[in-house]
Amino acid sequence: MKVTKLWSTGRKPTVSFELFPPRSPKGADKLENTIDALAGLKPDFVSVTFGAGGSTREGSRQLVEKLQNEKKLEVVAYFAGYGLGPEDISAVLDDYQELGIENVLVVRGDITREQEDFKPHRQSFGHASDLVAFIRPRYDFCLGAAGYPEGHIESESKDKDLEYLKLKVENGAEYIMSNYFYDNKYFFDFVERCRAIGIDVPVVPGVMPIYSVKMLEMLAGMCGATITDDVRQGIASLPEGDKEALVDFGVEFALSQCRELLKEGVPGLHFYTMDLSKSAVEIVNRLRRDEVL
Ligand SMILES: Cc1cc2nc3c(=O)[nH]c(=O)nc-3n(C[C@H](O)[C@H](O)[C@H](O)COP(=O)(O)OP(=O)(O)OC[C@H]3O[C@@H](n4cnc5c(N)ncnc54)[C@H](O)[C@@H]3O)c2cc1C
Repeated sequence: MKVTKLWSTGRKPTVSFELFPPRSPKGADKLENTIDALAGLKPDFVSVTFGAGGSTREGSRQLVEKLQNEKKLEVVAYFAGYGLGPEDISAVLDDYQELGIENVLVVRGDITREQEDFKPHRQSFGHASDLVAFIRPRYDFCLGAAGYPEGHIESESKDKDLEYLKLKVENGAEYIMSNYFYDNKYFFDFVERCRAIGIDVPVVPGVMPIYSVKMLEMLAGMCGATITDDVRQGIASLPEGDKEALVDFGVEFALSQCRELLKEGVPGLHFYTMDLSKSAVEIVNRLRRDEVL
């Protein structure tokens, strides 16, 4: 099913989870448990990341196939096309099409530190909007794009970033999945600014529970999500080094974010799981128990 159908008026907010392909056999075993725990929540869809330059091509494909065929979940396959030429792009997407995938979220992608020597294909596309423009006339996928409530980390201004987001939509993206944020005001303001410049597709908020301080700091630097004073003070008040207390704090913090987002009528909640299930399961169960989701 095309996920945009899930956001038609009058439907319940969706619940979805992002997963990435495992990097080791041990990771694969752990991921299996994560998938089963998350599948137990009957999510509307799950998504699978893709490494720029095709770095996780095989692993992403295997995970997409497992989730779709073995676990019978609706899948949004991410596609980070930077570095690939038109033929490789078509090969990946033909493969997804053959697997029966109906939803693809198109991002540019970032080359990682391990890919220092990576040489992009000479016809590689520079921006997600170009990738969407290439893919739209060739495939019938429901296409999504990434949006940044605080502006993308490289963008010269939030307004310019929004203009490029509009271009992704004009070129064929049918919904926007947002980067995560620790102050809902960033998201509400983002949606308002989207609507003001004529972006009228669904905008789904991304929620990232806090899993560890190291991960929090590292990802915030990479993704451009501000670690707010609330988060810093909350963490500072916990017993030092108490990992469980940190995860519990992360759950409570994300829960209060989700409650407010739902109250404001967001189309769904998309959880960045980092291939962990405990926090997401607790958050979704509590929101459902309280009948706000
Ligand atoms: C929901 C979500 C899922 C993601 N999944 C993945 C994944 O699976 N794999 C992965 O590697 N990364 C993923 N990312 C990270 C993403 O690849 C990075 O944030 C990347 O730096 C930008 O990707 P983009 O698609 O937003 O790029 P773009 O839309 O191309 O934007 C990148 C920068 O270029 C600017 N820009 C855009 N278009 C133009 C233009 N035409 N001319 C000039 N400047 C322009 C933008 O303002 C921005 O600063 C994801 C991010 C999100 C929010």
